[in-house]
Amino acid sequence: MPSSEKGVAPGNAQYEELRTRFFSTRVPNAYPAKIFTPKTTFEVQQIINEAKSTGQKVGVRSGGHLFPCASLIDKGILIDTIDLNNTIDYDPQTRQVSFPPGARSKDLASALQKIGRFFPFGHDPTVAAGGFLLAGGQGWFMRGWGCTSDTWVTEMEMVMPSGDVIRASKSKNADIFWAARGSGQGFFAVVTRIWGMTIPMRHLFETTFAFDCTSNFEEVLEAIFALNDFTPKYGVEIALTTFRPDRFEAELDEQVHDRRVFMGVSVLAFASTIDEAGVLVSPWKNLPEVMKKSLLALQPLSEKSWEELFTAQDNLLQRGNGERYQCDSILDRPDISRNELIKAIKPAMCDLPTRRSVGCIYIGDYTPKQFDQAISLPQHYYIATMTCWTDPLWDDRMREWMKRVYAQAAQASCGQYVADYDATQRVTPVSSKFTRHKTLRALY
Ligand SMILES: Cc1cc2nc3c(=O)[nH]c(=O)nc-3n(C[C@H](O)[C@H](O)[C@H](O)COP(=O)(O)OP(=O)(O)OC[C@H]3O[C@@H](n4cnc5c(N)ncnc54)[C@H](O)[C@@H]3O)c2cc1C
Repeated sequence: MPSSEKGVAPGNAQYEELRTRFFSTRVPNAYPAKIFTPKTTFEVQQIINEAKSTGQKVGVRSGGHLFPCASLIDKGILIDTIDLNNTIDYDPQTRQVSFPPGARSKDLASALQKIGRFFPFGHDPTVAAGGFLLAGGQGWFMRGWGCTSDTWVTEMEMVMPSGDVIRASKSKNADIFWAARGSGQGFFAVVTRIWGMTIPMRHLFETTFAFDCTSNFEEVLEAIFALNDFTPKYGVEIALTTFRPDRFEAELDEQVHDRRVFMGVSVLAFASTIDEAGVLVSPWKNLPEVMKKSLLALQPLSEKSWEELFTAQDNLLQRGNGERYQCDSILDRPDISRNELIKAIKPAMCDLPTRRSVGCIYIGDYTPKQFDQAISLPQHYYIATMTCWTDPLWDDRMREWMKRVYAQAAQASCGQYVADYDATQRVTPVSSKFTRHKTLRALY
C-alpha cells in the first residue's frame, strides 16, 4: 500500500489526538495534511519520496517535548516516530546500545538497568532520544562528560531529503554526523536509529537541600556556585530549581498566593558505594553560613533509583491535566562576573508569575569542541524558566512576562541551548559565531 494511504488526515477520529501529542497543551493552530506513524525505515523513505514528489514540507516528532511544537507544519506532513524501529538492543561484543528516536529516557533506563549498563539519556522520563540528541543532549552527569552527543553517540541512521538512507558517524558521512549533533529542530533529515556507547551502571546517591531565598537569593546562589567550583566534575550532577511554596496546593487557582521564593538543590553522585559518593559530594557537607541561615530542609545522602529520580522530574513539571508551558533560557556569557550574571537572571528565577512556574539552573560546566559537532556554545550554567498555567486566556500575559524577564537575562547570555530556541519569542544565537564548518557554509 502506498504510504499516503496509511497517513491520518483531518477528519479522521485519530487526527486531533495525534496532532496534539505534545508535552504542553499550548499547541499552535497548524494542521498537517497527513500524519504518519511509520514502523520501519523503509516506510519513512516512502513518505519522504512522496513528500518530495508533491513538494510538501515535512516535520518530524519523537517525544513531542519541544514547547513551540516546531514539527507541526500547516498543510505539510508530520512523521511521528512513536512506532518506528521500536526495539532497544544491546550488543555485548561492542557494548553499544541501539535504539529508536522515539525511545524515551524511561525506556532506555529500564532496558539498560536490566543488563547493568548506563548511557546518559535525558533527565525527564518522557523526553525522547530523537529531539534530545539532535540538540546535543544535556544528559545525566553532564558535568563530567559533556553533552551526550559529544562522546557517547557513535552512529545514526537517517533518511535524507533525497530519500536515500544513510548511516553517519565520525568516519562515514562525517559532515552530516557533525550537523546531527547540535542543530536541533534545524536538522534536515529524519533520524531513524541511533547507536551509543555504554558503561557499567553504578549506584545513584543523592543529597538534597531546600532554602527560603526570598530575601537573599543573590547570596545563596553565589554560595552554590562556589561549592560547585570545589565539587569533582566526574560523577556528580548539580541542579537547582526555584519555585513558589504553594505550587503543590491543587485546590488553588493559577495565581501566586504565597510570594516567597524557595530553592531546591540536588547533588547526585554516580558511584559504587555510599562512601565513594560521600567523598564526591563532600564539599556540600559543611554549608557556608548564608546557606545554613536559609536552610528549610536537608535530605542526607541516600541511594536513589531511576524511578525515584524520574518521579521528582514529573513533580517538577507537572503534566496530564491541561498544563500549558512556555520556556526561555540562556547560557551564561563566560566573560561576565557572577554578580552581573545573578543580577541579570534574578527576575527570571524569582518573579515566577504563576504558582506552578519554575526557574531552573542546570550546571553543565562544559565547553563543546565546535570542529567536532554543531553544538558549539559554552554550557557552563543553563538557566531556564518554565512558566506553567492552564487557562488559554493567560497566554498573552505569560508571553509578555517571559519577553520582559529574558530581555534582562539576555544581557548576561552568550546564546541559548538549541532545544529551547523559539523564533516567535526571541532571536538569539544557538551556535558560536566562529562556526566555520563546511556543512553550515553550504547550508546558509
Ligand atoms: C519536561 C522536559 C524536560 C526536559 N529535560 C531535558 C534534559 O534533561 N536535557 C535536555 O537536553 N533537554 C531536555 N529537555 C528539552 C528536550 O530535550 C528538547 O525539547 C528535545 O527537543 C525534546 O525531544 P523530543 O523528541 O521529546 O521532542 P520533539 O518535539 O518530538 O522533537 C523536537 C524537535 O527535534 C526534531 N526531531 C525529533 N525527532 C526527530 C527525528 N527522529 N528526526 C529528525 N528530527 C527530529 C524535530 O525538529 C522536532 O521539532 C526537556 C524538555 C521538557 C519539556
